[in-house]
Amino acid sequence: MQLLTLLGVAWCLAVAAILLPHRRALIALWREPVMRHPLLIVESDDWGAGPLEQAAALTAITDCLARHHDSRGRSPVMTVALILALPEANAATRARLLDSPEFAPIFTALQAGIARGVLAPQLHGMTHFWPPALARAALVQPQVAAWLAAPDLTEQLPSPLQSRWTDASELPSLPLDDALVRAAVAEEVAAYTRLLGTPPEVVVPPTFVWTATVEAAWAAAGLRVLVTPGRRFTSRDGAGRPAGIDKTMRNGEPGEGEAIYLVRDDYFEPLLGHTPEHALAALARKTELGRPCLLETHRNNFLTAAGGDPDQSLAALDRLYRRALADYPTVRFLSCAELGQALYDNDPAWVERDRHRRFTIWLRRVAGLPRFGKAARLIGLLPLLNLFARPDRLHP
Ligand SMILES: [Zn+2]
Repeated sequence: MQLLTLLGVAWCLAVAAILLPHRRALIALWREPVMRHPLLIVESDDWGAGPLEQAAALTAITDCLARHHDSRGRSPVMTVALILALPEANAATRARLLDSPEFAPIFTALQAGIARGVLAPQLHGMTHFWPPALARAALVQPQVAAWLAAPDLTEQLPSPLQSRWTDASELPSLPLDDALVRAAVAEEVAAYTRLLGTPPEVVVPPTFVWTATVEAAWAAAGLRVLVTPGRRFTSRDGAGRPAGIDKTMRNGEPGEGEAIYLVRDDYFEPLLGHTPEHALAALARKTELGRPCLLETHRNNFLTAAGGDPDQSLAALDRLYRRALADYPTVRFLSCAELGQALYDNDPAWVERDRHRRFTIWLRRVAGLPRFGKAARLIGLLPLLNLFARPDRLHP
């Protein structure tokens, strides 16, 4: 009897020793919303001011999306993160906006997709770089000067300079002046509002480098949803890599002001060899954990000018939706703005309220926590808790 008591006490101590160091993560995973349905959103970046080939690509994507419907009759939504301007030749700081006549076919195709409810515009940036940094870099980097002589695909700029919210004219990059950041955010939000006829609700920071100052300025300008990779990079390091992580975040967590975060850390880039099956595996993982599946993609997959194979990418997109609907009859399509609103409202139509279901999903989430999951399995804690999980499949 005494031995049993001792063993019991030792087990309780072991449980406490495992729980205590992970308590914050365990609580955060409990607070993170559990989605009631499999959710699939393909997030496509870098559209807007640029090559005219985008017009045909956006029209073809619109037609592809409109062919599919979820159980509610809703077609898939592709979010398009927009670049609002390209600079004038040899003038990094003077902008040609998306509504100038030269970009008219792109703007028309974009608006047609929005009108059909399958393209959802999001703010990416006035430009995909910080103009003064580009001007400085052009003085010493011939490649940048050549780009600036005939600005077109921002994808062709050196990667560090594609970050808008840090000065990467030298590496490691330097922070921007707060007042200049606030003025630039006000300018891009005003431009987006004028162009699209409605203020932006969702923003995707270019290259996922941004700062608390940028975020506060976006929130003050009315942005409600910030798409993130789950952590905030604030700079580029000496080798040009995104660096300076000062915050991590989960879906639905509040950011600055009224804004909330979404996490996008899965990919569907046919150019990089990602197949529909690759994307479906991500949907399966996210669904298992009660999370929305946001797939990152870029316009370059759909543009020959940017090295893409439009026919192959469109066929892959089409197959992805066909397979998703076949494998997940309850999958739902929506935009990030709608998802953000559902999370903000804790809307019971989208967010699970049933504690038993939430507990079951939480167990799956904590099992994947590095170190905790393994240790908790080893001492029998997870197997014990799993006895109380819902035995039925929650999805699809
Ligand atoms: Zn981008």
